[in-house]
This record gives sequence, C-alpha cells and structure tokens, in this order.
Amino acid sequence: MNKQQHNRYQRQIRLASIGEKGQQRLLDSRVLIIGLGGLGSPVALYLAAAGVGELVLSDYDVVEESNLQRQIIHTQASIGRLKVESAKERLLAINPELKISCLPHQLSADELQDQCSKADVVVDCIDNFPGRFLINKACVETQTPLVSGAAIKLEGQVTTFDSRLKTSPCYQCLYTDEGVEGATCEREGVVAPVVGVIGTMQAQEVINVLLGKSALTGTLMIFDAQYLDWQRITLLKNPVCPICH
Ligand SMILES: [Zn+2]
Repeated sequence: MNKQQHNRYQRQIRLASIGEKGQQRLLDSRVLIIGLGGLGSPVALYLAAAGVGELVLSDYDVVEESNLQRQIIHTQASIGRLKVESAKERLLAINPELKISCLPHQLSADELQDQCSKADVVVDCIDNFPGRFLINKACVETQTPLVSGAAIKLEGQVTTFDSRLKTSPCYQCLYTDEGVEGATCEREGVVAPVVGVIGTMQAQEVINVLLGKSALTGTLMIFDAQYLDWQRITLLKNPVCPICH
C-alpha cells in the first residue's frame, strides 16, 4: 500500500478488525455487482469509497427520470445513459484508482457463471425473481458467496448465501421458482431510503465476507421502514433443494 492509499483509508486501517492487512485484502478483491439501481447505488458507492479494488458492474438498463427518486448514484444528467456507464463515471470520481469494468448487456448463463467464478463476492441488486434464481445457481455452481438484498414498498431484506460452506442455504432453499412472477417496485412502489438502508447493509456485509467475517450467512434480516424495526430470522438449508443439496 502506498502513502496515498494509507492516507485515504486511514479510518479503516485504524480498526483492529481491518488494519493494513484487511485493507490490502479489500484492495485486492473483485466484486460483481448485478443491478445498478436502488440497491446497487449504495453498494457500489460504499464499496468504491471503502477501497474494494475491482468492481464489475452488470446492468443493461438506461437511466430514466423515475429512477432518480432512489438510484442515488445517477444524476439528472445521466438520463438516457447506460446505468453502468453513469455509475462508473461517478465511482471513478470518488476513487480514481479503482478498476471498474462494465457489462451493459443481459448476461447469458455461461457468461454469468464465468463472471461469478472470477468474483470474490457477488452482490444481487436486481428487482426480479427469475434473475435472482439464475444468479443463485451460478453462485452455487462456482462456490461464490452471494450477498442478496431486496426492497419493496416499506420493507427490505438482506442475507448472504455462501455455498463454500456445506451448511449454508441458497436462495432456492427459501423460494421456489415455479410460477412466481413476484412483486416489483414498478407496480408496488418503494420509499427511497429503504433501498439505501438495505444496500448499505449489503455493502457492509460484502466487506465482512471479504474479510472472512460474514454476519448474515444463514441469517435473514427483515427491515420494516414504517416502524424502523429489524427482524432476524435463521435460515436453514433445504435438504432436497434442487440447486444446492
Ligand atoms: Zn438451496
């Protein structure tokens, strides 16, 4: 680590639980962020600021005016631009030493698997069920930890699936993919800070996982924005899960 890096990250290096070694590990890490919307915004902003050395951004959407209510990585000037390009510009403005690559197209199953295998952690920041199942499958197959977040209306949830551990459940242990269309924020709405709370939790958990101290593997945290209340639920592996058993 050079002098400038030491200065930039001094508040983290000062922590006994991170130190120079932990900061170096963050700098040497590669994280795949899938979805650069409401959840992906705080995830990417905090991981960039915290010095996660390499970020891979996956999203094929362009920024729309109705996104700006909660997708705080983008600005009015981003409207009509690819979300990954808009996000990359913002992240490099915060931390120019990062390596950032963009995947501005829908990933094929092979490509998704390839990208997951190259990542130290995958962060699921998308807003649809079919995509979540595909990401989960790729993470199980490549044994890559997956930090998963979701938010809708006044509620959010966050958990980690780590298929490197035999006891860890996967996304499909909790949800079946048969005939689920699922609710979306477009139809149901979502309050802006809810995605910020959940995305920020995801960013912290990514750092935890990179440092080998996951807090949410096998634990689902559910956030109620109306009462600012958290519920913690233990998740169990489904012994007949078609994906991870
Ligand atoms: Zn499973």
